[in-house]
Amino acid sequence: MSKERKYTFGPVPSRRLGLSLGVDVIPNKLCSLDCIYCEVGVTDKRGLARKEYLPANEILAEVKAVIAEYPDLDHITISGSGEPTLNSKIGDIIRGIKAMTKVPVAVLTNGTLLDDPQVRLDLMEADIVSPSLDAVTTDVFLKVDRPNPKLRIENIIDGIKQFRREYKGRMWIEILFVKGMNDHDEEVFKMKQVLDEIQPEKIHLNTVIRPPAYAVAQPVEESRLKEIQKILGERSEIVGVFKETHKTIEHNADGQSILALLKRRAMTLEQMTVSLAMKNDDLSASLKQLHQGKFIKSYMFNGEEYYQAL
Ligand code: SF4
Repeated sequence: MSKERKYTFGPVPSRRLGLSLGVDVIPNKLCSLDCIYCEVGVTDKRGLARKEYLPANEILAEVKAVIAEYPDLDHITISGSGEPTLNSKIGDIIRGIKAMTKVPVAVLTNGTLLDDPQVRLDLMEADIVSPSLDAVTTDVFLKVDRPNPKLRIENIIDGIKQFRREYKGRMWIEILFVKGMNDHDEEVFKMKQVLDEIQPEKIHLNTVIRPPAYAVAQPVEESRLKEIQKILGERSEIVGVFKETHKTIEHNADGQSILALLKRRAMTLEQMTVSLAMKNDDLSASLKQLHQGKFIKSYMFNGEEYYQAL
């Protein structure tokens, strides 16, 4: 296929999903939330209207061409540069991918639209749906997720519960903890109550590990995450904090592949070498060229140099 990829990125190794091809169904950056920790950046306009923001037929054509090149995928993951359920054709996109491959389809969503029966119906064919739930009380929800003013955390929780009752696939809740914001005992014990009612298959605990949209978002220490894990019980596991050896594939990453990754999130050189299965020297040379061409920038975060597309 042509090197220009508009809707897919990776495959990238993911602790939760193995070798995962990312599919972006939303333009950068359209979201119902403006999470302070967001690695995509600040949300200018927090939208709730569902539309075919990116064309389903073009997305499916690109996925079909790309998966032919990567026979070893563990998942095809719909996520990317905003909230994917805002694309009103997400149901068609999931069904279209399922019709072309046996690779399981995962959807990473912020869960804010799950109180809409049509959204729940659209996600039914996915193999995994992973809604976020960073807060269960209004104050904390407003602080961490900076929602569209029409959103209410009670409705979102009800939507997630309803989806859990209707959905036959695997549901994993992801919670991202931000130091001093949603990591205190009071909120965590309330989360435990809500999660006991939802009964997800897994609860994934994460923290700020990449440059956030707002500098106030700081990571929670590993020791505190372990305490929270104990409170939330055996379904919960910590993800994204520790370095892991990942399954990777050999492919010739070029400037376009590197840019496609760096448009979605900032990464260090080390993270890119894993994602792109490239040697350090080759990658450094490509990054230098991209830097000189003013396609990317670099900056320091938590003592590490990150690269990001301009
Ligand atoms: S983290 Fe996800 S839900 Fe939150 S603002 Fe970013 S894209 Fe939206």
